[in-house]
Amino acid sequence: MAELSRRRFLQGVAGFGVGMLSGCAGLPIGTGGKAHVVVVGGGFGGATAAKYLRLLDANIQVTLIEPKAKYISCPGSNWLFAGLTNLEQLTVDYLALQDKYGVKLLVDRVSGLDAAKRRLRLAGGQSLSYDRLIMSPGIDFRWDAIAGYDQAAAEQFPHAWQAGPQTLQLARQLQAMPDGGVVLMTVPADPYRCPPGPYERASMMAYWLKHYKPRSKIIILDAKRSFSKQALFEAGWGKHYGYGTANSLVEWHSLADNPLLELNKQSKVLTSEFGDQFRADVLNIIPPQTAAPIALQQGLADSTGWCPVRPLSGQSVFDEFIHIIGDAAQYAPIPKSAFAANSEAKACAMAVISLLSQKPVPAPHWVNTCYSLIAPDHGVSVAGVYKLDAANAIAQVKGAGGVSAPRGVESLALEAEYTRVVFRRLMADAFR
Ligand SMILES: Cc1cc2nc3c(=O)[nH]c(=O)nc-3n(C[C@H](O)[C@H](O)[C@H](O)COP(=O)(O)OP(=O)(O)OC[C@H]3O[C@@H](n4cnc5c(N)ncnc54)[C@H](O)[C@@H]3O)c2cc1C
Repeated sequence: MAELSRRRFLQGVAGFGVGMLSGCAGLPIGTGGKAHVVVVGGGFGGATAAKYLRLLDANIQVTLIEPKAKYISCPGSNWLFAGLTNLEQLTVDYLALQDKYGVKLLVDRVSGLDAAKRRLRLAGGQSLSYDRLIMSPGIDFRWDAIAGYDQAAAEQFPHAWQAGPQTLQLARQLQAMPDGGVVLMTVPADPYRCPPGPYERASMMAYWLKHYKPRSKIIILDAKRSFSKQALFEAGWGKHYGYGTANSLVEWHSLADNPLLELNKQSKVLTSEFGDQFRADVLNIIPPQTAAPIALQQGLADSTGWCPVRPLSGQSVFDEFIHIIGDAAQYAPIPKSAFAANSEAKACAMAVISLLSQKPVPAPHWVNTCYSLIAPDHGVSVAGVYKLDAANAIAQVKGAGGVSAPRGVESLALEAEYTRVVFRRLMADAFR
Protein backbone atom coordinates (compact mmCIF):
# COMPACT_ATOMS: atom_id res chain seq x y z
CA MET A 1 0.00 0.00 0.00
CA ALA A 2 1.21 3.50 -0.72
CA GLU A 3 2.93 5.25 2.12
CA LEU A 4 1.06 8.23 3.47
CA SER A 5 2.71 11.54 4.11
CA ARG A 6 1.75 12.19 7.75
CA ARG A 7 1.93 15.95 7.54
CA ARG A 8 -0.10 16.09 4.31
CA PHE A 9 -2.68 13.75 5.78
CA LEU A 10 -3.13 15.69 9.01
CA GLN A 11 -3.35 18.92 7.02
CA GLY A 12 -5.99 17.25 4.86
CA VAL A 13 -8.05 16.24 7.87
CA ALA A 14 -7.85 19.71 9.37
CA GLY A 15 -8.73 21.17 5.98
CA PHE A 16 -11.83 19.01 5.76
CA GLY A 17 -13.30 20.56 8.90
CA VAL A 18 -12.49 24.10 7.83
CA GLY A 19 -13.82 23.45 4.33
CA MET A 20 -17.10 22.22 5.73
CA LEU A 21 -17.43 25.39 7.76
CA SER A 22 -16.61 27.88 5.04
CA GLY A 23 -18.90 25.96 2.69
CA CYS A 24 -21.84 26.69 4.98
CA ALA A 25 -21.58 30.42 4.44
CA GLY A 26 -23.48 30.00 1.17
CA LEU A 27 -26.37 28.04 2.67
CA PRO A 28 -29.79 29.68 2.93
CA ILE A 29 -30.34 30.98 6.44
CA GLY A 30 -33.63 31.83 8.03
CA THR A 31 -36.47 30.48 5.96
CA GLY A 32 -39.05 31.16 8.65
CA GLY A 33 -40.17 27.92 10.36
CA LYS A 34 -37.30 26.06 11.96
CA ALA A 35 -36.63 22.55 10.76
CA HIS A 36 -36.12 20.09 13.64
CA VAL A 37 -33.41 17.47 13.34
CA VAL A 38 -33.16 14.90 16.10
CA VAL A 39 -29.90 13.03 16.65
CA VAL A 40 -29.99 9.74 18.55
CA GLY A 41 -26.79 8.80 20.36
CA GLY A 42 -24.13 11.16 21.67
CA GLY A 43 -21.04 9.17 20.68
CA PHE A 44 -18.50 10.19 18.04
CA GLY A 45 -21.05 10.00 15.22
CA GLY A 46 -24.01 11.66 16.93
CA ALA A 47 -22.08 14.42 18.72
CA THR A 48 -20.28 15.39 15.51
CA ALA A 49 -23.52 15.40 13.52
CA ALA A 50 -25.32 17.58 16.08
CA LYS A 51 -22.46 20.08 16.24
CA TYR A 52 -21.93 20.32 12.48
CA LEU A 53 -25.65 20.69 11.74
CA ARG A 54 -25.68 23.79 13.93
CA LEU A 55 -22.43 25.07 12.40
CA LEU A 56 -23.79 24.59 8.90
CA ASP A 57 -27.13 26.25 9.58
CA ALA A 58 -27.79 27.99 12.89
CA ASN A 59 -31.48 28.17 12.01
CA ILE A 60 -31.97 24.46 12.36
CA GLN A 61 -33.19 23.22 15.71
CA VAL A 62 -31.10 20.25 16.77
CA THR A 63 -31.97 17.92 19.64
CA LEU A 64 -29.47 15.30 20.77
CA ILE A 65 -30.83 12.37 22.76
CA GLU A 66 -28.33 10.41 24.83
CA PRO A 67 -28.99 8.45 28.05
CA LYS A 68 -25.64 9.30 29.67
CA ALA A 69 -24.77 12.82 30.84
CA LYS A 70 -21.10 12.08 30.08
CA TYR A 71 -19.46 10.06 27.34
CA ILE A 72 -16.45 7.77 27.85
CA SER A 73 -14.27 7.37 24.78
CA CYS A 74 -13.28 3.92 23.55
CA PRO A 75 -10.39 5.45 21.57
CA GLY A 76 -7.57 5.79 24.08
CA SER A 77 -9.17 3.27 26.46
CA ASN A 78 -6.63 0.55 25.63
CA TRP A 79 -3.88 2.83 26.95
CA LEU A 80 -5.34 2.37 30.41
CA PHE A 81 -3.96 -1.20 30.48
CA ALA A 82 -0.44 0.22 30.19
CA GLY A 83 -1.09 2.82 32.87
CA LEU A 84 -0.91 5.64 30.29
CA THR A 85 -4.35 7.15 30.93
CA ASN A 86 -7.37 6.98 33.23
CA LEU A 87 -11.14 7.12 32.80
CA GLU A 88 -11.23 10.82 33.66
CA GLN A 89 -9.04 11.68 30.68
CA LEU A 90 -11.36 9.65 28.44
CA THR A 91 -14.55 11.32 29.69
CA VAL A 92 -16.26 14.30 28.11
CA ASP A 93 -19.57 16.08 28.76
CA TYR A 94 -22.02 17.74 26.38
CA LEU A 95 -21.80 21.29 27.77
CA ALA A 96 -19.95 22.68 24.75
CA LEU A 97 -22.51 21.22 22.37
CA GLN A 98 -25.24 22.99 24.33
CA ASP A 99 -23.54 26.28 25.25
CA LYS A 100 -21.30 26.89 22.23
CA TYR A 101 -23.38 25.39 19.45
CA GLY A 102 -26.97 25.58 20.73
CA VAL A 103 -27.69 21.85 20.56
CA LYS A 104 -30.57 20.89 22.85
CA LEU A 105 -29.60 17.86 24.95
CA LEU A 106 -32.14 15.41 26.30
CA VAL A 107 -30.63 12.92 28.74
CA ASP A 108 -32.92 10.03 27.92
CA ARG A 109 -33.12 6.86 25.87
CA VAL A 110 -35.17 6.47 22.70
CA SER A 111 -37.51 3.56 23.31
CA GLY A 112 -39.31 3.47 19.97
CA LEU A 113 -40.44 5.47 17.00
CA ASP A 114 -43.43 5.90 14.76
CA ALA A 115 -41.74 6.33 11.40
CA ALA A 116 -44.97 7.19 9.55
CA LYS A 117 -45.67 10.08 11.93
CA ARG A 118 -41.96 10.94 12.35
CA ARG A 119 -42.28 10.79 16.13
CA LEU A 120 -39.92 9.38 18.74
CA ARG A 121 -40.80 7.93 22.11
CA LEU A 122 -38.41 8.33 25.02
CA ALA A 123 -38.03 5.96 27.96
CA GLY A 124 -38.82 8.89 30.27
CA GLY A 125 -42.31 9.12 28.75
CA GLN A 126 -41.79 12.15 26.49
CA SER A 127 -42.36 12.03 22.75
CA LEU A 128 -41.10 14.42 20.09
CA SER A 129 -41.40 14.87 16.36
CA TYR A 130 -38.68 15.39 13.78
CA ASP A 131 -38.29 16.54 10.22
CA ARG A 132 -35.21 14.36 9.86
CA LEU A 133 -33.66 11.86 12.22
CA ILE A 134 -29.96 10.97 12.43
CA MET A 135 -29.21 7.79 14.32
CA SER A 136 -25.76 6.93 15.63
CA PRO A 137 -26.60 4.46 18.41
CA GLY A 138 -23.44 2.34 18.18
CA ILE A 139 -23.33 -1.40 18.77
CA ASP A 140 -24.73 -4.32 20.70
CA PHE A 141 -23.20 -7.75 21.32
CA ARG A 142 -24.22 -11.17 20.03
CA TRP A 143 -24.43 -13.47 23.00
CA ASP A 144 -24.96 -16.66 20.97
CA ALA A 145 -21.41 -17.08 19.65
CA ILE A 146 -19.74 -18.98 22.53
CA ALA A 147 -21.97 -21.15 24.74
CA GLY A 148 -21.56 -20.01 28.33
CA TYR A 149 -20.54 -16.44 27.47
CA ASP A 150 -23.64 -14.32 27.94
CA GLN A 151 -24.40 -10.95 29.49
CA ALA A 152 -24.12 -12.36 33.01
CA ALA A 153 -20.73 -13.93 32.21
CA ALA A 154 -19.55 -10.59 30.81
CA GLU A 155 -19.92 -9.14 34.34
CA GLN A 156 -17.29 -11.64 35.49
CA PHE A 157 -15.17 -11.64 32.30
CA PRO A 158 -15.50 -8.10 30.90
CA HIS A 159 -15.24 -7.55 27.16
CA ALA A 160 -14.54 -3.84 27.81
CA TRP A 161 -15.61 -3.09 24.23
CA GLN A 162 -17.71 -0.17 25.46
CA ALA A 163 -15.33 1.88 27.55
CA GLY A 164 -16.21 2.48 31.20
CA PRO A 165 -16.38 0.38 34.36
CA GLN A 166 -15.58 -2.81 32.43
CA THR A 167 -12.30 -1.28 31.24
CA LEU A 168 -11.29 -0.65 34.86
CA GLN A 169 -12.44 -4.11 35.91
CA LEU A 170 -10.33 -5.78 33.22
CA ALA A 171 -7.29 -3.67 34.15
CA ARG A 172 -7.71 -4.71 37.80
CA GLN A 173 -7.93 -8.38 36.81
CA LEU A 174 -4.69 -7.97 34.86
CA GLN A 175 -3.01 -6.34 37.85
CA ALA A 176 -4.21 -9.11 40.19
CA MET A 177 -3.02 -11.92 37.91
CA PRO A 178 -0.02 -13.92 39.21
CA ASP A 179 3.28 -13.52 37.37
CA GLY A 180 3.34 -16.37 34.85
CA GLY A 181 -0.42 -16.12 34.29
CA VAL A 182 -2.21 -16.29 30.95
CA VAL A 183 -4.51 -13.65 29.47
CA LEU A 184 -6.78 -15.10 26.79
CA MET A 185 -8.31 -12.62 24.36
CA THR A 186 -10.80 -13.73 21.72
CA VAL A 187 -11.38 -11.59 18.63
CA PRO A 188 -14.49 -11.89 16.43
CA ALA A 189 -14.74 -12.10 12.65
CA ASP A 190 -15.26 -8.90 10.64
CA PRO A 191 -17.05 -6.56 10.77
CA TYR A 192 -16.70 -5.28 14.32
CA ARG A 193 -15.96 -2.00 16.09
CA CYS A 194 -12.33 -0.89 15.64
CA PRO A 195 -10.49 -3.57 13.61
CA PRO A 196 -7.01 -2.89 15.13
CA GLY A 197 -8.39 -2.38 18.67
CA PRO A 198 -7.76 -5.91 20.01
CA TYR A 199 -4.12 -5.88 18.89
CA GLU A 200 -3.49 -2.46 20.41
CA ARG A 201 -5.03 -3.78 23.63
CA ALA A 202 -2.76 -6.84 23.58
CA SER A 203 0.23 -4.51 23.04
CA MET A 204 -0.70 -2.26 25.95
CA MET A 205 -1.25 -5.25 28.25
CA ALA A 206 2.10 -6.70 27.13
CA TYR A 207 3.81 -3.40 27.89
CA TRP A 208 2.48 -3.48 31.45
CA LEU A 209 3.24 -7.19 31.94
CA LYS A 210 6.78 -6.74 30.64
CA HIS A 211 7.46 -4.35 33.53
CA TYR A 212 5.47 -6.01 36.33
CA LYS A 213 4.80 -9.70 35.47
CA PRO A 214 7.33 -10.62 32.77
CA ARG A 215 6.74 -14.38 32.92
CA SER A 216 3.13 -13.93 31.80
CA LYS A 217 1.58 -14.31 28.36
CA ILE A 218 -1.26 -12.88 26.28
CA ILE A 219 -2.76 -15.37 23.85
CA ILE A 220 -4.98 -13.93 21.11
CA LEU A 221 -7.46 -16.42 19.65
CA ASP A 222 -8.68 -14.86 16.43
CA ALA A 223 -11.69 -15.83 14.32
CA LYS A 224 -9.89 -14.28 11.33
CA ARG A 225 -6.97 -15.46 9.20
CA SER A 226 -5.25 -12.10 9.26
CA PHE A 227 -5.77 -8.73 10.90
CA SER A 228 -5.42 -4.99 10.47
CA LYS A 229 -1.81 -3.69 10.34
CA GLN A 230 -0.64 -7.27 11.03
CA ALA A 231 2.90 -6.84 9.72
CA LEU A 232 3.36 -3.66 11.76
CA PHE A 233 1.97 -5.20 14.95
CA GLU A 234 4.06 -8.35 14.58
CA ALA A 235 7.22 -6.32 13.96
CA GLY A 236 6.41 -4.21 17.04
CA TRP A 237 5.72 -7.25 19.20
CA GLY A 238 9.05 -8.70 18.01
CA LYS A 239 10.87 -5.49 18.94
CA HIS A 240 9.30 -5.03 22.39
CA TYR A 241 7.78 -8.30 23.56
CA GLY A 242 9.84 -11.18 22.13
CA TYR A 243 7.21 -12.16 19.56
CA GLY A 244 8.22 -15.28 17.66
CA THR A 245 10.44 -16.58 20.51
CA ALA A 246 9.60 -19.15 23.18
CA ASN A 247 9.42 -16.39 25.80
CA SER A 248 7.13 -14.09 23.84
CA LEU A 249 4.66 -12.08 25.89
CA VAL A 250 2.20 -12.19 22.97
CA GLU A 251 0.97 -15.13 20.92
CA TRP A 252 -1.51 -14.88 18.05
CA HIS A 253 -3.45 -17.87 16.71
CA SER A 254 -6.01 -17.94 13.93
CA LEU A 255 -8.99 -20.16 14.76
CA ALA A 256 -10.72 -19.43 11.45
CA ASP A 257 -11.12 -23.18 10.79
CA ASN A 258 -11.58 -24.25 14.40
CA PRO A 259 -13.99 -21.79 16.07
CA LEU A 260 -14.39 -21.46 19.81
CA LEU A 261 -17.65 -23.04 20.90
CA GLU A 262 -17.83 -23.14 24.66
CA LEU A 263 -16.70 -21.44 27.86
CA ASN A 264 -16.51 -23.25 31.19
CA LYS A 265 -16.89 -20.36 33.62
CA GLN A 266 -15.66 -22.28 36.68
CA SER A 267 -12.41 -23.53 35.16
CA LYS A 268 -12.01 -20.53 32.77
CA VAL A 269 -11.44 -22.94 29.88
CA LEU A 270 -12.47 -22.22 26.29
CA THR A 271 -13.08 -25.23 24.02
CA SER A 272 -12.94 -25.14 20.22
CA GLU A 273 -14.79 -27.18 17.60
CA PHE A 274 -11.90 -29.67 17.29
CA GLY A 275 -11.73 -30.06 21.09
CA ASP A 276 -8.71 -27.81 21.70
CA GLN A 277 -8.80 -26.32 25.18
CA PHE A 278 -7.42 -22.96 26.27
CA ARG A 279 -7.14 -22.08 29.96
CA ALA A 280 -7.04 -18.51 31.18
CA ASP A 281 -6.20 -16.61 34.34
CA VAL A 282 -7.75 -13.48 32.82
CA LEU A 283 -10.35 -13.82 30.10
CA ASN A 284 -11.18 -11.05 27.64
CA ILE A 285 -13.80 -12.31 25.23
CA ILE A 286 -14.69 -9.69 22.61
CA PRO A 287 -18.04 -10.90 21.27
CA PRO A 288 -19.29 -10.52 17.70
CA GLN A 289 -21.44 -7.43 17.29
CA THR A 290 -24.53 -5.95 15.66
CA ALA A 291 -26.08 -2.51 15.42
CA ALA A 292 -27.52 -1.21 18.72
CA PRO A 293 -30.88 -2.60 19.94
CA ILE A 294 -32.92 0.47 18.93
CA ALA A 295 -31.85 0.02 15.29
CA LEU A 296 -32.71 -3.68 15.32
CA GLN A 297 -36.08 -3.13 17.07
CA GLN A 298 -37.08 -0.50 14.52
CA GLY A 299 -36.31 -2.80 11.58
CA LEU A 300 -33.46 -0.61 10.34
CA ALA A 301 -30.96 -3.49 10.10
CA ASP A 302 -30.87 -6.31 7.54
CA SER A 303 -29.95 -9.97 8.10
CA THR A 304 -26.31 -8.99 8.73
CA GLY A 305 -27.33 -7.17 11.90
CA TRP A 306 -26.10 -3.82 10.51
CA CYS A 307 -28.10 -0.96 8.94
CA PRO A 308 -27.89 -0.55 5.16
CA VAL A 309 -27.80 3.07 3.96
CA ARG A 310 -27.64 5.05 0.75
CA PRO A 311 -24.04 6.20 1.05
CA LEU A 312 -24.54 9.60 -0.62
CA SER A 313 -26.84 10.87 2.14
CA GLY A 314 -26.67 8.20 4.86
CA GLN A 315 -30.43 7.68 4.46
CA SER A 316 -31.68 4.30 5.61
CA VAL A 317 -32.70 2.13 2.67
CA PHE A 318 -35.88 1.43 4.70
CA ASP A 319 -36.87 5.02 5.55
CA GLU A 320 -35.86 8.15 3.66
CA PHE A 321 -36.31 10.43 6.72
CA ILE A 322 -33.91 8.42 8.88
CA HIS A 323 -30.15 8.74 8.38
CA ILE A 324 -27.80 6.25 10.05
CA ILE A 325 -24.11 6.80 10.69
CA GLY A 326 -21.27 5.37 12.74
CA ASP A 327 -20.73 1.78 13.80
CA ALA A 328 -24.43 0.84 13.46
CA ALA A 329 -24.44 1.56 9.72
CA GLN A 330 -22.99 -0.30 6.75
CA TYR A 331 -20.42 1.98 5.13
CA ALA A 332 -18.06 -0.82 4.07
CA PRO A 333 -15.29 -0.75 2.98
CA ILE A 334 -14.95 2.11 5.49
CA PRO A 335 -14.14 0.40 8.81
CA LYS A 336 -16.11 0.95 12.00
CA SER A 337 -14.09 3.57 13.85
CA ALA A 338 -14.59 6.85 15.69
CA PHE A 339 -12.65 8.64 12.96
CA ALA A 340 -14.96 7.18 10.32
CA ALA A 341 -18.08 7.98 12.39
CA ASN A 342 -16.87 11.58 12.63
CA SER A 343 -16.35 11.75 8.87
CA GLU A 344 -19.71 10.09 8.09
CA ALA A 345 -21.40 12.52 10.49
CA LYS A 346 -20.06 15.58 8.65
CA ALA A 347 -21.13 14.23 5.27
CA CYS A 348 -24.53 13.32 6.71
CA ALA A 349 -25.03 16.77 8.28
CA MET A 350 -24.32 18.31 4.88
CA ALA A 351 -26.79 15.92 3.24
CA VAL A 352 -29.51 16.72 5.78
CA ILE A 353 -29.04 20.46 5.31
CA SER A 354 -29.21 19.99 1.53
CA LEU A 355 -32.34 17.85 1.68
CA LEU A 356 -34.08 20.27 4.04
CA SER A 357 -33.38 23.14 1.66
CA GLN A 358 -34.29 20.97 -1.35
CA LYS A 359 -30.86 21.21 -2.89
CA PRO A 360 -28.82 18.41 -4.47
CA VAL A 361 -26.72 16.49 -1.95
CA PRO A 362 -23.02 17.08 -2.67
CA ALA A 363 -20.99 13.91 -3.28
CA PRO A 364 -18.92 13.36 -0.13
CA HIS A 365 -15.41 12.09 0.46
CA TRP A 366 -14.92 10.16 3.68
CA VAL A 367 -11.68 9.80 5.60
CA ASN A 368 -10.59 7.18 8.08
CA THR A 369 -7.43 6.70 10.02
CA CYS A 370 -6.72 4.22 12.80
CA TYR A 371 -3.67 4.91 14.93
CA SER A 372 -2.53 2.36 17.52
CA LEU A 373 0.15 2.32 20.19
CA ILE A 374 2.36 -0.76 20.39
CA ALA A 375 4.44 0.85 23.14
CA PRO A 376 4.36 4.44 24.49
CA ASP A 377 7.05 5.45 21.97
CA HIS A 378 5.94 3.20 19.13
CA GLY A 379 2.85 4.07 17.06
CA VAL A 380 1.48 2.61 13.83
CA SER A 381 -1.35 3.72 11.57
CA VAL A 382 -3.54 2.91 8.62
CA ALA A 383 -5.52 5.51 6.69
CA GLY A 384 -7.93 5.57 3.79
CA VAL A 385 -9.88 8.09 1.72
CA TYR A 386 -13.18 6.98 0.17
CA LYS A 387 -15.63 8.30 -2.41
CA LEU A 388 -18.60 7.10 -4.45
CA ASP A 389 -17.85 5.10 -7.58
CA ALA A 390 -19.86 5.12 -10.81
CA ALA A 391 -22.36 2.67 -9.29
CA ASN A 392 -22.84 4.91 -6.21
CA ALA A 393 -21.03 2.42 -3.98
CA ILE A 394 -18.26 3.47 -1.59
CA ALA A 395 -14.79 2.86 -3.02
CA GLN A 396 -11.35 3.55 -1.62
CA VAL A 397 -9.46 6.25 -3.51
CA LYS A 398 -6.39 4.59 -5.00
CA GLY A 399 -3.07 6.06 -3.93
CA ALA A 400 -4.57 7.96 -0.97
CA GLY A 401 -3.89 6.67 2.52
CA GLY A 402 -1.86 3.58 3.37
CA VAL A 403 -0.06 2.17 6.35
CA SER A 404 2.84 3.75 8.21
CA ALA A 405 6.28 2.87 6.89
CA PRO A 406 8.64 2.89 9.87
CA ARG A 407 12.02 4.43 9.19
CA GLY A 408 13.73 4.05 12.53
CA VAL A 409 13.11 4.91 16.14
CA GLU A 410 12.30 8.57 15.49
CA SER A 411 9.50 7.88 13.03
CA LEU A 412 7.97 5.31 15.42
CA ALA A 413 8.01 7.89 18.21
CA LEU A 414 6.48 10.45 15.86
CA GLU A 415 3.70 8.00 15.00
CA ALA A 416 3.11 7.52 18.74
CA GLU A 417 2.83 11.29 19.14
CA TYR A 418 0.39 11.47 16.19
CA THR A 419 -1.66 8.74 17.88
CA ARG A 420 -2.12 10.97 20.93
CA VAL A 421 -2.70 14.11 18.82
CA VAL A 422 -5.36 12.47 16.66
CA PHE A 423 -7.18 11.28 19.80
CA ARG A 424 -7.24 14.82 21.23
CA ARG A 425 -8.30 16.39 17.91
CA LEU A 426 -11.06 13.84 17.40
CA MET A 427 -12.45 14.46 20.90
CA ALA A 428 -12.32 18.21 20.31
CA ASP A 429 -13.89 18.01 16.85
CA ALA A 430 -16.80 15.88 18.08
CA PHE A 431 -17.52 17.29 21.54
CA ARG A 432 -15.97 20.74 22.04
C1 LIG B 1 -11.03 -0.60 22.79
C2 LIG B 1 -11.43 0.29 21.64
C3 LIG B 1 -10.51 1.17 21.10
C4 LIG B 1 -10.88 2.00 20.03
N1 LIG B 1 -9.95 2.84 19.52
C5 LIG B 1 -10.28 3.62 18.46
C6 LIG B 1 -9.32 4.52 17.92
O1 LIG B 1 -8.17 4.63 18.39
N2 LIG B 1 -9.69 5.29 16.87
C7 LIG B 1 -10.95 5.23 16.32
O2 LIG B 1 -11.22 5.94 15.36
N3 LIG B 1 -11.88 4.37 16.82
C8 LIG B 1 -11.59 3.58 17.88
N4 LIG B 1 -12.54 2.74 18.41
C9 LIG B 1 -13.89 2.64 17.77
C10 LIG B 1 -14.85 3.73 18.26
O3 LIG B 1 -15.02 3.68 19.65
C11 LIG B 1 -16.23 3.55 17.60
O4 LIG B 1 -16.07 3.30 16.24
C12 LIG B 1 -17.06 4.81 17.80
O5 LIG B 1 -17.32 4.99 19.17
C13 LIG B 1 -18.36 4.75 16.99
O6 LIG B 1 -19.15 5.88 17.25
P1 LIG B 1 -20.75 5.76 17.23
O7 LIG B 1 -21.26 7.15 17.37
O8 LIG B 1 -21.17 4.94 16.08
O9 LIG B 1 -21.09 4.89 18.53
P2 LIG B 1 -20.82 5.18 20.08
O10 LIG B 1 -19.60 5.99 20.24
O11 LIG B 1 -20.89 3.87 20.76
O12 LIG B 1 -22.05 6.05 20.53
C14 LIG B 1 -23.34 5.53 20.54
C15 LIG B 1 -24.16 6.30 21.57
O13 LIG B 1 -25.54 6.02 21.35
C16 LIG B 1 -26.18 5.95 22.59
N5 LIG B 1 -27.42 5.18 22.43
C17 LIG B 1 -27.56 3.86 22.17
N6 LIG B 1 -28.86 3.52 22.11
C18 LIG B 1 -29.56 4.66 22.33
C19 LIG B 1 -30.95 4.95 22.41
N7 LIG B 1 -31.88 4.00 22.28
N8 LIG B 1 -31.33 6.24 22.67
C20 LIG B 1 -30.40 7.22 22.81
N9 LIG B 1 -29.07 6.99 22.75
C21 LIG B 1 -28.66 5.72 22.52
C22 LIG B 1 -25.16 5.28 23.50
O14 LIG B 1 -25.41 5.58 24.87
C23 LIG B 1 -23.84 5.88 23.00
O15 LIG B 1 -23.41 6.98 23.76
C24 LIG B 1 -12.21 1.92 19.49
C25 LIG B 1 -13.13 1.03 20.05
C26 LIG B 1 -12.75 0.22 21.11
C27 LIG B 1 -13.76 -0.73 21.70
